[in-house]
Amino acid sequence: MIDFSLTPEQQTLQKVAREFAQDILKPLVRAADAEPDPLKGFQTIKPAYEKAYEMGFATGYLPKEYGGGGLTNMDVLIAVEEIAAVDPGFGCILLVNGLALMPLLWFGNDAQKKKWLTQACTSKSKDYLAGWLVSEPAGSPGGTANFDHPSPKAGIQVTADLKNGEYVINGRKYWPSSAAGWDMKGADVNVMVVRTDRNKGGRGALSCVIIERGTPGITYEPLIDTMGQRLNQNADIHFNNVRVPAENVFALGDGDLAISKAFTWSGPVAGIAAVGTARAAYEYVLNWAKTYTAGGLDPIIYHQNVGYMLTDIAMRIEASRYLSYKAAHYADSHNYENHALGAMSKIYAGETCFQAVYDCMRVMGINSYDRRSHPLEKYLRDVLCFPIYDAGNMGMQRRKIWGVMAQENFNPRAFMDNERIEFTKEMEGIGTAGTPPPKG
Ligand SMILES: Cc1cc2nc3c(=O)[nH]c(=O)nc-3n(C[C@H](O)[C@H](O)[C@H](O)COP(=O)(O)OP(=O)(O)OC[C@H]3O[C@@H](n4cnc5c(N)ncnc54)[C@H](O)[C@@H]3O)c2cc1C
Repeated sequence: MIDFSLTPEQQTLQKVAREFAQDILKPLVRAADAEPDPLKGFQTIKPAYEKAYEMGFATGYLPKEYGGGGLTNMDVLIAVEEIAAVDPGFGCILLVNGLALMPLLWFGNDAQKKKWLTQACTSKSKDYLAGWLVSEPAGSPGGTANFDHPSPKAGIQVTADLKNGEYVINGRKYWPSSAAGWDMKGADVNVMVVRTDRNKGGRGALSCVIIERGTPGITYEPLIDTMGQRLNQNADIHFNNVRVPAENVFALGDGDLAISKAFTWSGPVAGIAAVGTARAAYEYVLNWAKTYTAGGLDPIIYHQNVGYMLTDIAMRIEASRYLSYKAAHYADSHNYENHALGAMSKIYAGETCFQAVYDCMRVMGINSYDRRSHPLEKYLRDVLCFPIYDAGNMGMQRRKIWGVMAQENFNPRAFMDNERIEFTKEMEGIGTAGTPPPKG
């Protein structure tokens, strides 16, 4: 039976998350967003983060056996929508803990899981952060979208060479959230995708390595100054002969699968965060349309264009929410094997909710452009991020769906029938070879 109603436990979770977002997070958001120094902005929200950690939002998706909350994907979405409706950048910090730690759960050995996941869930200081280090700086080669390119000269360029039982790491990562920590000395743990084989392409050369805070040889450059989601931190990190014990490596030769699966897990989470952002804009503008007359005698909602646009905005938000729910439910049903559907929910919700926020501004008119008096400018800056972050919709997420669909035995009714699709390396690498026009 299809049932969209929340269980009593989920209703409680929603209420608790909403109260946290409204009472604890909201009072800090405006100042943190307006702070020109990204580090100071990040530090401003630390008390809210500590409270979120205490309440279980930072590691709630990890299994109870490690001290996590044992939340389902569906549960996570319910909490994230409420937090993102107040600030999606803060939601991103929570999401990135999962991007870093979930691959350990899927690909780590028992000893690694026990050590690192337990530490994450039971940290005495409530400011525990984990970073997920995939993205690399622009250059040639450079960037991230072609991490699964079959050539050893393309894709991930940070190298980790095995020497005397240690991996020696060199290179640079650019963009990872939380990776510099609260004090620019590193997150408690950074999980990084590196090239452990210089002779293979992305489908065999990549692995994950766990880097503890305080490991020598790492330099944290000043944080990236972003347009939106400014409560989140984006780091720029250099690795110079950084030595890590071999026991800290996992997913050896399967770092590509870890990237694909992590950015799939986060798909519906990012999707619902876009929903939360658009919902906040829509509710603000709906109220405006019911009270503002624009020099006429009646509120503008009685103009048909305004009514029709608000109708479309509301429809898009609802549709995005339910596709995110479906992707989360599918992930719960198939042990996180939701690669195509997870990507679909992230793409659809991100791009649709971006349009919804822009349309909110069109409904409201010029007053939406006044950043001193109204929040639309921040909603737009924040929502802009969804199509391009968390594995960009163009280079990474669409390619993932394409790779699944291109398989000969792909069942186009698999999602409708709730049928599991196993994601394999054969599905990767599609579309990584651009085709310049023939010469002459
Ligand atoms: C708030 C925020 C938080 C972030 N957190 C993290 C984090 O925690 N960890 C992390 O590693 N990164 C993080 N990032 C970076 C983010 O995940 C990016 O999505 C990722 O770096 C990929 O960017 P990209 O797709 O633009 O890649 P790029 O490699 O820069 O590609 C750029 C563009 O080229 C085109 N393109 C390239 N190749 C192809 C292709 N094969 N087919 C079609 N088009 C192609 C696409 O148009 C694509 O958008 C974060 C970014 C932001 C803004």
